[in-house]
Amino acid sequence: MNQDRIDELRALPVTSPAMIIGSTRRGSHERPGLDVVSPIDGSHLTQLPNATVEDVDAAVQAARESYDAGRWAKLAPMARKAVMLRWAARIEEHALELAVLGVRDNGTEIAMAFKAEPLSAAGTIRYYAEAIDKLYGEIAPTDLSVLGLIHTEPVGVVGAIVPWNFPLMITAWKLGPALASGNSVVLKPSEIASLSVLRMVELGLEAGIPEGVFNVVTGTGEVAGQALARSMEVDALAFTGSGFVGRKLMEYAAQSNLKRVYLELGGKSPHVVFADAADLDDAAKAVVGGIFRNAGQVCVAGSRLLVEESIHDDFVVKVCALSEKMRVGDPLDTGTQIGALSSEHHLKSVLARLHGTPGIATGGNRILEDTGGSYMQPTVVTGLDPSDALVRNEVFGPVLTVTPFKDEVEAVALANDTDLGLASGVWTQDLSRAHRMINAIRAGMVHVNTYGGADVTVPLGGHKQSGNGQDKSLHALSKFTNKKTAWIKL
Ligand code: NAD
Repeated sequence: MNQDRIDELRALPVTSPAMIIGSTRRGSHERPGLDVVSPIDGSHLTQLPNATVEDVDAAVQAARESYDAGRWAKLAPMARKAVMLRWAARIEEHALELAVLGVRDNGTEIAMAFKAEPLSAAGTIRYYAEAIDKLYGEIAPTDLSVLGLIHTEPVGVVGAIVPWNFPLMITAWKLGPALASGNSVVLKPSEIASLSVLRMVELGLEAGIPEGVFNVVTGTGEVAGQALARSMEVDALAFTGSGFVGRKLMEYAAQSNLKRVYLELGGKSPHVVFADAADLDDAAKAVVGGIFRNAGQVCVAGSRLLVEESIHDDFVVKVCALSEKMRVGDPLDTGTQIGALSSEHHLKSVLARLHGTPGIATGGNRILEDTGGSYMQPTVVTGLDPSDALVRNEVFGPVLTVTPFKDEVEAVALANDTDLGLASGVWTQDLSRAHRMINAIRAGMVHVNTYGGADVTVPLGGHKQSGNGQDKSLHALSKFTNKKTAWIKL
């Protein structure tokens, strides 16, 4: 990454974003849009089209028509694969441009955004493109007087609603498998991070995804998101975001056409450090990286540190020292380690969660207010009761709580003492203990002697109230396909 090039890109005016509805583009000139404010410095970037229910219906209609006409679904698998591979290549060619635009919108530090956003999205799209012509149907092991064929078909029209953190990566997690399976889609990105998503979709259309197959509506969740989730013509809905909204989507599906709803929700992931970890310095670095990257706005953030009593005090000292050294600031500076929180509103809500909290070992304050941006110190809180709301509920900000445990039994009990179950981490040299912990922790992912960084080959999904579907890996394809049986008498 070249700092001069980043500075050139950040100075460019943002072109007026437009929704993609079939072959048409709808901008915000017809009616007032939503103001897009950069969390880097509070500057006004542009206006985002604010979709109405009619816009969403038109996008769903365009998707339905393209699906029924077989414009994508009936294309030979190898031809679909070629288009998606071209799309992935186009994203890579424009990677820095996409990353900088996304950072201006949501404040993620560029060093992370560059890898986790365009490059990861391109890798995901390529992974699913390559799968398209390698998956076979099945013949059932029936009596020889019949032939039982098991076909796999696209579900039809897929709606996808994504959040503001890692918007390109998460869009690719949904649309990679949905498009590879032959569906037509309507995407609703977050009103806080739509700019780079719109650009990435335009690159897909330039690469040859047919018109109508890939539609994007922007705007509020309450109007545009709700209309998509209530649509009678959407067959499956793939969502990443908060549990609060996830619950509403299930209601909307129940009140409309019983569409499938796949939810990837929040986490309060335990990071468990035993005294027998091989290197406590490495563990401390992973703990700090595991909570503070992207200012803690990571679904799998290890936000609950559980430390064996005998090393608790020393380990907290290490974690606080590393936290205080982290460089917080302009996310478009390649040396920055923690960028801005996604919005002024979100920063204030994180600070409110900390208000009056005892035991803040380091951090806890807003900083760099004179920049106009939304920055906060990495924060470590010790001594809270495990029942405290700050320990149990997701904050989605740079806040780590620390709780000591006596032994493995207590570590498991504390790790599981939450309604959420997205990710977790365990540091130990004892192989048997590592496997016992993998079995005992109720979460979709257990990292051992590392934290984060899993690639597209492994599923990511929540247990308990962290969700019900899994993104990534070949398993994700089943969310966007139906099985059909043919029973043929010979
Ligand atoms: P959010 O739930 O507020 O919004 C997510 C999306 O839902 C946005 O596009 C929003 O416009 C839309 N939405 C809001 N209200 C809606 C409604 N009534 N009907 C339909 N759509 C609606 O979440 P957020 O603040 O954008 O993102 C942060 C949350 O996402 C955190 O809880 C985080 O843990 C979670 N997340 C989970 C994963 C995962 O893989 N499990 C990944 C990233 C983020």
